[in-house]
Amino acid sequence: MKKRILIVGAGTAGLTVAAQLVNKLGSNVDITIFDPQETHYYQPMWTLVGAGVFNFDQSSKPNKNFIPEGVNWVKQKVESFQPDAKTITTQDGTVWTYEFLIVASGIQLDWHKIKGMPEALKAEGVCSNYDPNGGASKTFKEVSKLGGGRAIFTQPALPIKCAGAPQKAAYMSDDYWRRSGVRDRIEVVFANHGPRIFGVEKYKKALDQVIARKGINPHYSHNLIEVRTATKEAVFERADKEQVVMKYDLLHVVPPQSAPDYIKKSPLADAAGWVEVDKFTLQHKRFADVFALGDCSSLPTSRTGAAVRKQAPVLVENLIHHINGRTLEARYDGYTSCPLVTGVGSAIMAEFDYDGNPSETFPFDQGKERWSMWMVKAHLLPSLYWHGMLRGRA
Ligand SMILES: Cc1cc2nc3c(=O)[nH]c(=O)nc-3n(C[C@H](O)[C@H](O)[C@H](O)COP(=O)(O)OP(=O)(O)OC[C@H]3O[C@@H](n4cnc5c(N)ncnc54)[C@H](O)[C@@H]3O)c2cc1C
Repeated sequence: MKKRILIVGAGTAGLTVAAQLVNKLGSNVDITIFDPQETHYYQPMWTLVGAGVFNFDQSSKPNKNFIPEGVNWVKQKVESFQPDAKTITTQDGTVWTYEFLIVASGIQLDWHKIKGMPEALKAEGVCSNYDPNGGASKTFKEVSKLGGGRAIFTQPALPIKCAGAPQKAAYMSDDYWRRSGVRDRIEVVFANHGPRIFGVEKYKKALDQVIARKGINPHYSHNLIEVRTATKEAVFERADKEQVVMKYDLLHVVPPQSAPDYIKKSPLADAAGWVEVDKFTLQHKRFADVFALGDCSSLPTSRTGAAVRKQAPVLVENLIHHINGRTLEARYDGYTSCPLVTGVGSAIMAEFDYDGNPSETFPFDQGKERWSMWMVKAHLLPSLYWHGMLRGRA
């Protein structure tokens, strides 16, 4: 009898594990993947769309191109999990039975936690590379028309997807304004909920130098709580609870993020709402037939597609061992990566593990800004994603 595996989410993680399972098990499994989205986005490209390097359309392809042959695709949202009965329920009320379940449905954007958002995204001067409705195109429109004034780039509390992306938007905009000859007329502010620019010391040191060289004004422990579009004001709450109001001419907002609500209220959730999996094996801590990876999982690492690339083979190997009644042996070490683009033609390639130890791929110091790492980010990684990772090959 074929084993019945359900996968929730056909994003980066869902498609990658589906492809790897099919490559390894062929027709010995019956896989169904759930996701209402017709379009797949390569989200890491949005940072470069916001800087005018690529068009938004270049970041997307139809999802149907990546559903592996033999895998059923149900274009429905999953609404709830009943792990004791080994069933899930979709939006249309259908109950689906599984033998094994993989949850890969990403992170939730909590725009509503900032007063005035997401409506402010429609207003002049406000933009976000995180807005999946082509937001990065608006970022470039706003960046390219700014000739002077104050530009504020915000970062909310972690975890968020790609913790480096908020500051990358500031660096790429700074670079654009320098090349356009208007940078000396623009004050650039980076307002971060957190107390420092980056968690890992090695890359923090390098990024502190980038910020100083570029003349970006960092405001740490500043959390965006309100956007007033009528007066073009951004309201921040500092760690000491004092409120600070800043005028803006351009405001790039990164929304607070959390586990999807339907997971938060399910039996699969940990106290913070994420799917509660073992951080090394990716198996659920209480329901052995459930696995999770990617942004919706409790894995305590920085949420990136690069992390998913290392998680997927571990999950697949452990799931196959579990199906065969064997001990789970594959281990995920928390690897994640963030190509910190600092301008067109330069990037710091941060790679590190659960303990914040650099785990670098190349035989040189990746803490330095390099043209080669820009080429990897802008040209090699998109191709590796579409042709390798989503096909289960990288
Ligand atoms: C601006 C930006 C820049 C980034 N830069 C980088 C970078 O440089 N490098 C990097 O590695 N990563 C980067 N990332 C992060 C990366 O894109 C994500 O970490 C990665 O896509 C996570 O994969 P995922 O499958 O967990 O989630 P997603 O790829 O977001 O997929 C989740 C899927 O689940 C589906 N879904 C949601 N709810 C349900 C439901 N109830 N039922 C069924 N399906 C559901 C969604 O439709 C979606 O298709 C960036 C992200 C952004 C937004």
